[in-house]
Amino acid sequence: MTDYRKYIQTIEDFPKPGIRFYDISPLLGSGTVFASAIADMSKPLRDQVNKIVGFDARGFVFGAAMALELGVGFVMLRKPGKLPGTIESVNYGLEYGTNTLEMQTDAIGSGDRVVLVDDVIATGGTARAGIELVRRVGGEVVAFSALLDLPALGGSQSISKLNVPVHSLLRISNEG
Ligand code: AMP
Repeated sequence: MTDYRKYIQTIEDFPKPGIRFYDISPLLGSGTVFASAIADMSKPLRDQVNKIVGFDARGFVFGAAMALELGVGFVMLRKPGKLPGTIESVNYGLEYGTNTLEMQTDAIGSGDRVVLVDDVIATGGTARAGIELVRRVGGEVVAFSALLDLPALGGSQSISKLNVPVHSLLRISNEG
């Protein structure tokens, strides 16, 4: 298996002091490593889902590529005001302030088996909001998939508590 850790840059104090930011740009910049990550993330989901839901914006990069790999449709969860038509929307708390995510109501329905995809799981607030949106319109959330999980921040545990299995290629706990 590829050592994905080598392709993620750690940046201290970005985007603000006290945050250790994990930058996936080097991984995306290597055609072979990116392809390998998409193949590895998709493998456990083959024939398990018929829709991939990706988070604005880095979830689009992984989610859309996985949708092509698996031959299934792709649905966007977007920041407010970007999607036309009838919208479901959810507000959720961040460490500082709140955020809103939106989805087109007709994008998913009962009978759809869905995996949500993002690049990084931190506190899990974004993930929980996405799970709520998909469930509201009747979709079944089969799994949450991310390249990187930061388990010390509690996000993946909080996703599991919603009875959603978490898949990640890499977990980084404490690097000092
Ligand atoms: P969360 O706290 O799990 O809701 O994370 C919110 C979003 O911000 C996720 O979609 C991640 O892509 C991103 N994110 C949060 N913390 C980090 C971090 N330390 N490094 C890189 N991306 C992050």
